[in-house]
Amino acid sequence: MTHDVIIVGAGIVGAACANELSRRGMSVAVVDREWIGGGATAAGMGHIVVMDDSEAQFALTRYSQQLWQKLRAELPDDVEYEQTGTIWVAADEEEMVEVRRKRDYYRQRGVPVEELDADSLKRFEPNLRDGLAGGLRVPEDAVLYPPCAARFLMERAQQSGAKLYLDSGVTQIGGGYVRFADGVQMQAQFIVNAAGASAGDLTPGVEIRKRKGHLVITDRYAGFLRHQLVELGYLKSAHSVTSDSVAFNVQPRRTGQILIGSSRQYGAEHKEVDHDILARMVRRAEEYMPGLRAMSAIRCWTGFRAATPDKLPLIGPWPSDPSLWLATGHEGLGITTSLGTARILADQITGAAPEIPIEPYLPSRMTLWQTLKEPANA
Ligand SMILES: Cc1cc2nc3c(=O)[nH]c(=O)nc-3n(C[C@H](O)[C@H](O)[C@H](O)COP(=O)(O)OP(=O)(O)OC[C@H]3O[C@@H](n4cnc5c(N)ncnc54)[C@H](O)[C@@H]3O)c2cc1C
Repeated sequence: MTHDVIIVGAGIVGAACANELSRRGMSVAVVDREWIGGGATAAGMGHIVVMDDSEAQFALTRYSQQLWQKLRAELPDDVEYEQTGTIWVAADEEEMVEVRRKRDYYRQRGVPVEELDADSLKRFEPNLRDGLAGGLRVPEDAVLYPPCAARFLMERAQQSGAKLYLDSGVTQIGGGYVRFADGVQMQAQFIVNAAGASAGDLTPGVEIRKRKGHLVITDRYAGFLRHQLVELGYLKSAHSVTSDSVAFNVQPRRTGQILIGSSRQYGAEHKEVDHDILARMVRRAEEYMPGLRAMSAIRCWTGFRAATPDKLPLIGPWPSDPSLWLATGHEGLGITTSLGTARILADQITGAAPEIPIEPYLPSRMTLWQTLKEPANA
């Protein structure tokens, strides 16, 4: 079987790439060992968020958020896209300094934001505890339900002619071929590794570490929460590469349920819920919103983010194999950045001019990481 492009991975990134490439007239096949959105996509929180760890992270998250806004009218109801906005919650005056830095950074780049003092924070979210210093409201941030968003993107790809092969575990890719566990192989000019946290198993040399996360969902408590609320300390948690961390990060679902996150762990490769870290995460959420203590949790689960050393995704050609392309390494932002990833991957494959600079995401930068690891006298 021959296609222009074979995408390995039917998560939200693979689905978005399939949609973009098939709409540009390429013949596309998507293969997955499980089902659509069954990996990190099903485990993710679905916060569509602009972030500013680096200019490159900002560019991709903002670009992608605007692509979600453009797609909004076409999203089916079950994608549950809601422009709830985010409030970055500042616990004290030290964190208010960060609020103001973030406010200025976003404003300079055209992102609407609103600085909140303690009273206005309480007016927006009355169930936060007393005594918090304020926050930053980012009204264009949104939430959605990732598995349905992935399914929607895949269906659009299929309407444009893409073929989908589920229950199809891939053992090897490269040299223009995809080989399956049963020995069958498929051929394509371009093979896209969109296997999320497993991308490194298929392309040795791709530096992806699994970063485990836990989430809890409550029963329905309509009106308790309005925005996605994230403590500013979340940034410290997301940056820590040495220790397990938890942060207050809660999301209102359209159903009235509250999604409670989040944790980050390296070196924990098993899927099972870790009760210690789960308890720490829930305690942290209760510190910020004491009313959560009285609520029933109905399910908790884990998932694996695909983390790269520099916290940016890998989008583009793999230097040592002209047929092989990467669309992976999105860590905690792959739901947000799936649409931007698909655009810039398709731009590179079709020779179109990208709308944002692509250099920070190119996999060729991994050569630099390798060089940095070499001993100085080598
Ligand atoms: C707890 C948690 C919270 C998160 N919250 C957010 C959030 O709020 N906002 C946000 O933007 N992002 C969030 N993320 C990150 C987001 O979920 C991921 O970045 C995103 O889902 C990655 O999508 P993907 O398609 O690259 O990977 P995946 O969804 O993991 O898809 C990869 C697919 O590849 C398939 N596959 C792998 N190996 C093979 C093989 N050998 N053969 C065939 N198929 C294979 C898998 O079955 C899987 O379906 C969160 C993640 C976690 C874990």
